Amino acid sequence: MTAYCEVALPVPLDRTFTYAVRLGQAPQRGARVIAPFRNEKLIGVVTALDVTPEGDFETRYLEAVLDDEPLVSDQLLELAEWIAGYYLAPLGEVLRGMLPLVAEVSRTVYYRITDAGRDALATMVEGEGDGDTTADPSTSPDAHSASGFARDDRDSGGLDVEVSQPLGRKRPKGGARKGKARAEEHEMQFRVLKRLAEGEPVKVSTLRTATAVSLPALTSLVRKKWIARETSAAERDARRIERFAVLIPEARLPKLTEKQQAILAELAACGGEILLADLREKDLPSSTVQTLVRRGLVRIEERPAVFHLGGLTPASDAPIELNDAQRQALDTVTAALGAFHAFLLFGITGSGKTAVYLAAMQKALDRGFSSILLVPEIGLTPQMAGLLDRAFGEKVALLHSALTPEERSEQWRRIRRGDAPIVVGTRSAIFAPAPNLGLILVDEEHDQSYKQEETPRYNARDVAVMRAKLAGAVAVLGSATPSLESWHNAAQGKYTRIDLRERVMNRPLPGVELVDMRREFQETGQEQLFSRALVAETKAALERGEQSLVLLNRRGYSFAVICRACGEKLDCQNCAIALTHHKPSDEDGLARAGQRLECHYCGFRRTVPARCPKCDSEHLFYLGAGSQQGEERLQEIFPDARIGRMDRDTVRGRHDLERLLARLHSGEINLLVGTQMIAKGHDIHGITLVGVVGCDHALSMPDFRAAERVFQLISQVSGRAGRGELPGRVVVQTYYPDHYAIVAATANDYASFAERELKYRRWMHYPPFGALANVLVRSPKLEEAAGWAATLGKYLVQNQNSGAVRVLGPCTAPIARIKGVYRFHLILKAASRKALNATLRGLMAHAEKAEIPRRHLVVDVDPQRLM
Ligand code: ADP
Ligand code: ZN
Ligand code: ZN
Repeated sequence: MTAYCEVALPVPLDRTFTYAVRLGQAPQRGARVIAPFRNEKLIGVVTALDVTPEGDFETRYLEAVLDDEPLVSDQLLELAEWIAGYYLAPLGEVLRGMLPLVAEVSRTVYYRITDAGRDALATMVEGEGDGDTTADPSTSPDAHSASGFARDDRDSGGLDVEVSQPLGRKRPKGGARKGKARAEEHEMQFRVLKRLAEGEPVKVSTLRTATAVSLPALTSLVRKKWIARETSAAERDARRIERFAVLIPEARLPKLTEKQQAILAELAACGGEILLADLREKDLPSSTVQTLVRRGLVRIEERPAVFHLGGLTPASDAPIELNDAQRQALDTVTAALGAFHAFLLFGITGSGKTAVYLAAMQKALDRGFSSILLVPEIGLTPQMAGLLDRAFGEKVALLHSALTPEERSEQWRRIRRGDAPIVVGTRSAIFAPAPNLGLILVDEEHDQSYKQEETPRYNARDVAVMRAKLAGAVAVLGSATPSLESWHNAAQGKYTRIDLRERVMNRPLPGVELVDMRREFQETGQEQLFSRALVAETKAALERGEQSLVLLNRRGYSFAVICRACGEKLDCQNCAIALTHHKPSDEDGLARAGQRLECHYCGFRRTVPARCPKCDSEHLFYLGAGSQQGEERLQEIFPDARIGRMDRDTVRGRHDLERLLARLHSGEINLLVGTQMIAKGHDIHGITLVGVVGCDHALSMPDFRAAERVFQLISQVSGRAGRGELPGRVVVQTYYPDHYAIVAATANDYASFAERELKYRRWMHYPPFGALANVLVRSPKLEEAAGWAATLGKYLVQNQNSGAVRVLGPCTAPIARIKGVYRFHLILKAASRKALNATLRGLMAHAEKAEIPRRHLVVDVDPQRLM
C-alpha cells in the first residue's frame, strides 16, 4: 500500500500538501524533500507521516528525500508552527527562512512550448523569424542560481516572482522606436517558439544562447501561456573548498625564472604551503604556479575550507574584571540556567552589557549548553567579533546577511554538529540548530532590525523568548532603551528585570544641552543647520584633539524639491514619496549627469530638472538637509577637520562599515556625520561630543511609535559620548523642546519616558496594551486595491467578534503607492491576542472566498510601522 506524508512547501498558501512516498524512500518528520508542485520542483519539509490523502484528486510522488534524519528538530518544527500561527504565515515559508541551505540544492529552469504556443507559431508569418540570431553571451542568465529555501532578498511574491528588467538597460521610447522594438520582440518570440517546437524542454541558458531572447520577452511568453516554465532541483555539494599550492621538497631545483623563484621562496617562507588566493593577492600569478606544477616542483591540494572569525584584536589582552553590578547580573542569569526564564537586562549605555553577555555564554558553555547571541543588523562590528574570537575562538559560528550561501550552509552545519556552541548573528540566527540550547541573548532588543519586513513577518526578539520557552533555556533581552513591550512585560512579572544603573569605572553619563531651534532662528535671524552651541562645542572638541559625532537622520543632500511658484513637490513616478536630492559622489556612475533625484523606496533616479515640470518656473527650492549636506557644511565650517560620513550611501557592503569604523578607532576621522547607523552600539573611546541635528521630524509622522523611536535614537546616540576616560557632552537641537520624549531623553530618564508613553498607549489601545495588526491590500490597479479593501472592511464590520476587535479603515496607507502598487490598509486593535488571531483567520478565509489573491494581502501582526 502506498504511504503518504505531509509536506510544508515555500509557497504563499496557508496549508501543507500531501505526497505519496515511493518504495525505498523513508522520509522522516523534519527531513527535507524535493516535491513536484505545479511546474516546479520545490524543496519542502516533512511535517507529518502516515497521513491519509483527502479528496479524490491524484496525489503526486515525492521526487527525492534529501535527509536520512530529521534536519529540523522537533523543537524547531514546533517553533515554526508557532510562528506560522501567530504571524499568519505559511508554514513552508517559515521553514524556508529557518534553513539557510540554498547552496546545497541547485535549481535549473526549463521552458517548453504549450499547445497554445504551437497554434500561435503556426499562425505566425513564415520566414519572419529568420533574422539574425547571434547570441549575446553577456546576457546569459544564471540558470543554476539556487532558489528554494532561504532566499534572502526575495519579495513576498512566492510563486509569481519573475525576473525583472536588468538594471541599466533602457526601455525603448518614442513612436518609431516603439514600433521597431515591437517587431524585434515579435521576432524574438518567434525564434523561441520555433526552437521549443523541436520537442524536449530546453534549459533557460541554452534557450537564451540559441535565440538571444531577453528575460522580459520570456516572461511575456509565459503570461500569454505560449510557453511554460518548469524547474528541476537536485542536491549539490556546498562545501567550500580551498586550493593550496604545496611545495614538493625532494625535487632538485632546475633553472627558474624570477617569478618562479619568488613563488618557491614564498612557499618556503610559509612552511611549504600557501593558499592560492593568497599568492594571487601577492601578485604572484597562477599561470606561473601551473608551470611549477608541470615541472613537478609544486602540487595543488584541495581541502575543505576552514572558518576564520577574524575581527579586530582587542586593545587590551587582559580579561575584563566584572564590577559588582555586572557580577550580580551574571549571577542572576547563570543561577537560572537549565530551565526557561526571561530577563530584561536594563543597563544604561556604557554599563558594560557586552561583558555580561560574554561571561554568561562562558558559564553556559561550562555547563555544556550552547548559546545564541543576537545582534542588530550592523551590530556585529569587527570589535565585537574580536572579543568573541578571543573568548571562544573556533567555538563561534557566525550567521549574518553578508555571508555567501556556501558560508551560511557551512556555519549552519557546524552549529548542528555541535562544533560551534557559541552562535552569534542577526535576526534569523534565532533559528540556529544549536543542540542543547541553554541561553539566548538579544543585544539592543529594541532594535527595529529584529523585525522581518517580509513573510514571515516575525520579530526575532519575541521568537527568542518563545524558543527559550520551548528549549527550557534562559532568554536575556538587553537594552538601555527597552521596547515598551519588554518594559511592560517586566512590569507584569513576565520577565525579571536586572538593572545596570552606572557606567563602568564610575564614568559619568554625558551632560545634555538642549537647543531650541525656534529661538535660535529668532536670535540669529537665519535658518541654520547647526546651532551656535553645536559649532562652538565641535570647535572646542576638535581643538582638544577629541572626536565628535553628528547625527542627521536622513541620507542624501535635501529631502525634497518644491516649486516656489506652484507648490508642486517632485515625487517619484512609481511611489507617493518625495524624491531625495543627491549630489554626485566620486565613484558614482551618474556623476557626469551632475546631481540626481532619487526615490529611497524604489530606487528610481532622474536628473535634476532646471524648471518645474508642472508650471515651468525656474524657482525650484530644496528643502531639508540630509547627511550629505551635513558633511558639506561641516567641511565648510571646519576645513581642517578629518570628516567621515556613515549612511547607506557610504556603507553599502560589510567592508565599508569595517573600514569606516577602523578609521574612527584609529582617530583618522575626528568628525563623523551620519544617520542612525552611527547610534548603533559603537564603543569608541575617543568620542566626547555628540550633536543631534535632525531627528525630531519623526515626531510629526503618523506613527504611534514615533516618540519611542525619537527617545531611543537620542539616548543611543548620546550614549556614544564619553565612553573612554574623558567625559562626554551632547547637544540636541530640536523644534519640540517641550515634547516629553525630548525632555526625558535629555534627562537620561527612561523610566519617566516609559510612564508617560504607556499612559498614551493605554489610552489609545496601542501595544503593549492589547494586540495590533496591520492588513495591507495591494494592487497595481487602484480600483482593485480599493475594492478589495472595501470588501474586507465590510466583512470586519459584520464580524467584529462582538466588539473584541476595533477596526480602523479601510483607508489609503500613509504611503499610498510604492513601486507602482496602490496600498490600502486596515488596522485591527484587539483586547486579546486570541481575538485578534481569530478575526484575522476569519478575514483571510473571507478573502479567499472573495477571490482576493493571497499575494495581494499582507498581514503584519505586531507591526513596527503602519506606513
Ligand atoms: P554597553 O552597555 O553600552 O553595551 P559595553 O558593553 O560596550 O557597554 O561596554 C562599554 C565599555 O566598557 C567597553 O569598552 C568595555 O570594554 C568596558 N568595560 C566593560 N566592563 C568593564 C569593567 N568591568 N571594567 C572596565 N571596563 C569595562
Ligand atoms: Zn511649479
Ligand atoms: Zn519610488
